[in-house]
Amino acid sequence: MAKVIAIFNQKGGVGKTTTNVNLSACVANKGKKVCVIDIDPQGNTTSGFGVDKTQLEYSIYDLMIDEVNIRKIIIQTEYENIDLIPSSSELAGAEIELVSTNDRERKLRKAINEIRGDYDYIFVDCPPSLGLLTINSLSAVDSVLIPIQCEYYALEGVSQLMNTIQLVKQSLNPSLEVQGVVLSMFDGRTNLSIQVVDEVKNYFKGKVYTTIIPRNVRLAEAPSHGQPIIYYDNKSKGAEAYLELAEEFIELEEDVI
Ligand code: ADP
Ligand code: MG
Repeated sequence: MAKVIAIFNQKGGVGKTTTNVNLSACVANKGKKVCVIDIDPQGNTTSGFGVDKTQLEYSIYDLMIDEVNIRKIIIQTEYENIDLIPSSSELAGAEIELVSTNDRERKLRKAINEIRGDYDYIFVDCPPSLGLLTINSLSAVDSVLIPIQCEYYALEGVSQLMNTIQLVKQSLNPSLEVQGVVLSMFDGRTNLSIQVVDEVKNYFKGKVYTTIIPRNVRLAEAPSHGQPIIYYDNKSKGAEAYLELAEEFIELEEDVI
């Protein structure tokens, strides 16, 4: 049965999508069967795997709003061991359309439960908001992986984030856990980055991954080529870091089980 993990931080631009695309590609590269779910209307995970959002027969919108069967929506990416449930721009309207539907917080959970047996890991890329798409994601998953950018105000909003996780735990998903915290966009030349690492480790205690993702221009370039970093430039610092993170992630996860 797949472990289902949301990549979540309500702040935008902290490295959620970059972590989703590259961690899932690296975990798949280690021989795990992975499904990636893009529930962000921006669809950056979808294009990050080289899938054209304008040419889709179905997207996650059809699952959330019209209850089209999840198996009809899954597409195989060109990368080994990775399937994708793509997003489309229509999804932007779904937040409002969902309000008047039945069991509106649990639609994604129901759908994911149908495919849990097919994968080792399912990763969900959340939008940078606390609307119904995010609530659906947090209700559907076993745990949350939180990327934090090594920048000023890194911890700003973190108490709200932990609050949201707590609320969902109390009302919709009692077994929701924090999988881990990934520090991203680290710049070793600045004292600031080093300070942020200390602060975040202090706040999250043992939950922070030892592997830190550096700021690396190849990571920023790869999405425009529709490629995860290990296929775009597997010698880059970014590729090395995400491969190391995948190893650490799998090791910790498989120890737990
Ligand atoms: P989010 O999904 O949280 O909004 P993204 O993953 O889209 O954040 O990252 C925001 C921007 O920063 C993107 O343009 C992305 O390419 C870039 N980026 C993310 N991580 C890195 C990194 N480690 N090094 C360089 N650029 C990065
Ligand atoms: Mg994103």
